[in-house]
Amino acid sequence: MIEIKDLHKSYKMGSNSLHVLKGINFSVAEGELVSIMGSSGSGKSTLLNILGMLDEADEGSYTLDGVPIKNLNEKIAARYRNKFLGFIFQSFNLISYKNALDNVALPLYYQGIKRGERIDKAMSYLEKVGLKDWAGHLPNELSGGQKQRVAIARALASDPKVLLADEPTGALDSKTSYEVMNLIQEINDEGRTILVVTHEPDIAAMTKRIVNLKDGRIIQDTPVNQVRALQNV
Ligand code: ADP
Ligand code: MG
Repeated sequence: MIEIKDLHKSYKMGSNSLHVLKGINFSVAEGELVSIMGSSGSGKSTLLNILGMLDEADEGSYTLDGVPIKNLNEKIAARYRNKFLGFIFQSFNLISYKNALDNVALPLYYQGIKRGERIDKAMSYLEKVGLKDWAGHLPNELSGGQKQRVAIARALASDPKVLLADEPTGALDSKTSYEVMNLIQEINDEGRTILVVTHEPDIAAMTKRIVNLKDGRIIQDTPVNQVRALQNV
């Protein structure tokens, strides 16, 4: 599903340049649940942003579902992003003046789906994440865990091939974090490919494979015996 070869990325700052990704090679098969671990500044978000087509590498190749991702114009990049990728962020990134249902329905609007169908689909995804009764509530009326569930429903609404989550539990307490990871595990059980960036070992242990980044290089890439969330709570 994802294939990356010898990926490099530097940030230029004036006459200085910061080499952040120093030759990353890795692939992710369809249906995997992978965590990208590493301390702050190790390049996790940079890597995820490149995988998410929010940023481009300086060198190396990236193939997503057989499509080479390189030098795409913004319109085509946006279309691929919509079709292939769903995003989940630490800070949820919900639209504060739209209720839960409208937040989930928004990506469907950009896909040109008619209003009635948008509402039906969005409601079914809210139900899937256990928030059917909260459809009419604004984000500030929801707990952190509920907000992240809405964000997960929104990410799923466009039926992406891959979900990319950058520190999805970073703003949540442990119990809520495990509940959110349990939902992510359930979504992966259905066959969806998911990448989770985290610096928390207990969160990474709930995925099936841990890729360890250090100073822009992969220093370890190991399968794990996935810990199921509900056993932890
Ligand atoms: P992580 O997500 O693992 O904490 P990042 O990928 O966000 O790490 O950042 C890696 C390094 O790149 C850090 O030193 C960070 O300060 C730097 N960095 C990230 N984004 C930018 C940017 N847009 N411009 C300049 N430096 C950046
Ligand atoms: Mg980061």
